[in-house]
Amino acid sequence: MAWSLLVKNGWVIDGSGAPRVQADVAVEGDRIAAVGPGLTGEATRTIDATGRIVAPGFIDAHSHSDLFYFGCPSSESKVRQGVTTEVVGMCSFSPAPIAPGRAQAVRDWAGGIGASVDFQWETFGQYLDALRSLRPSINVVHFVGHGALRLAAIGPENRPVTPDDMRAMTRLLDEAMDAGAYGYSTGLVYAPSAYSVTQELVELARSISRRGGLYFSHVRGESAMVEDSIREAIRIGEDGDVGVQVAHVKVGGRENWGKIDSVLRLLDDARARGVDVSGDVYPYHAGSTKMDNLLPSWVHDGGLAKLLERLADRPTRRKIVEECLVDGERWRTASQGAIGFDEILIATCRRHELEGLTLAALARQSGKTPAEAMMDLLLTERATVGMVSFSQRLENVAKVLAHPAIMIGSDSIGLSEGVGPKHGKPHPRMYGTFPRVLGEYAREQKLFSLETAVNKMTGMPAQRLRMKDRGLLRPGLAADITVFDPATVKDEATFGDPHRYPVGITHVIVNGVVVVDDGTFSAAGTGRVLTPV
Ligand SMILES: [Zn+2]
Repeated sequence: MAWSLLVKNGWVIDGSGAPRVQADVAVEGDRIAAVGPGLTGEATRTIDATGRIVAPGFIDAHSHSDLFYFGCPSSESKVRQGVTTEVVGMCSFSPAPIAPGRAQAVRDWAGGIGASVDFQWETFGQYLDALRSLRPSINVVHFVGHGALRLAAIGPENRPVTPDDMRAMTRLLDEAMDAGAYGYSTGLVYAPSAYSVTQELVELARSISRRGGLYFSHVRGESAMVEDSIREAIRIGEDGDVGVQVAHVKVGGRENWGKIDSVLRLLDDARARGVDVSGDVYPYHAGSTKMDNLLPSWVHDGGLAKLLERLADRPTRRKIVEECLVDGERWRTASQGAIGFDEILIATCRRHELEGLTLAALARQSGKTPAEAMMDLLLTERATVGMVSFSQRLENVAKVLAHPAIMIGSDSIGLSEGVGPKHGKPHPRMYGTFPRVLGEYAREQKLFSLETAVNKMTGMPAQRLRMKDRGLLRPGLAADITVFDPATVKDEATFGDPHRYPVGITHVIVNGVVVVDDGTFSAAGTGRVLTPV
């Protein structure tokens, strides 16, 4: 019998962290058939990987492609990085469940992220079916967002939960788990997730504990209150008896940068006493989110219409400025810390001519104060503005990357370069996260071995997700494979010129099908919506 594919003469890094060995990898259908030196069987197709690394396909432990599969099922900017599986439904956002009569609130919420989707579903199961019918190129691991649960059960209001609300949310979470969710996620700086108290989150965790559900946490504050916020995430894991993932571990605001060591120590201490906690990171010192996140969470109370009303109201604007403006020149929020207006870039908005400008430049251009310019921008763009903000320290990024419990999560969206003009200045992590870890951090800076780098993007996230059939190159496992040149692999995307694919990643195989072939991408509908086993 002939194998469907044979990858010959490469160096196999199997994803476990073990040293590379020279070996061939045989694929039969969607499974790895054999791994070993000098395999001699017949194969329909042979790829010569001489001098290159053959690794498991990368798993992006933290991604926001979910709403974007509907416009870009190819997830091209991810697959061309070697990513074969994405974890989505992060930071409290997921496109389901949607309660009858509450679709507009979810639409406003999704619009804020920049997605326009015609919601054809209500339950999480119906949504996953819609996702399956898109035939994405990449495998999808889905969490359900706490914000979606709260919107469906309560709406966008800032209020504590009643016992009835709690029953409604646990029922919706249970339904999502039945349909194939891996757990739930929070974004405790984003409304309405931000309106919760710890106990609400512990109860949700408890409700999925016995079925092995996981809690992925964008914590309550990543600046002044970062330590208490990490403690809260750990407590939810301990009291709720679930595994915890701290999303995009970082410290925002230069006055807080020194706290990174105690943040990592909190993870170490919890792990030492047996808490199942780990984290992820992206290899950049800038973050990216919706610009309306520069407003305090009370401004979002009640949803988009209320938000715009408040932004149009002079006395409310004054109140926002009094709360956030520091020393007349920096802007302070729970997630960014105090940041200069020249450190905040407009990444995406409807008026493309503004993309790439800093808020300081926008203010100069318009003759307004930066705070007024920012609030006017949010008002006229109906809060649909993406930003890139330089609130972190580069040295901290390396420190977090090197931590043994930290894996790679791009916190980004799969995009397609397509044809025609490319709009926006999105964060380069959309195109460069994984090759940047391999090229810049493993090869150039020698922060860790290539084997460790690969483990952080394969075996480690698979273990985190309790995924038994991906993340390693072993016979019987799914044939997700990435082939790259260790001497040349490199990210090309920059903040000024982000729409650039990486170099050095020659072949990407998803479920046995070659999607990137000698550097050429062809969307093939090869991905699957994965469910916990
Ligand atoms: Zn997040």
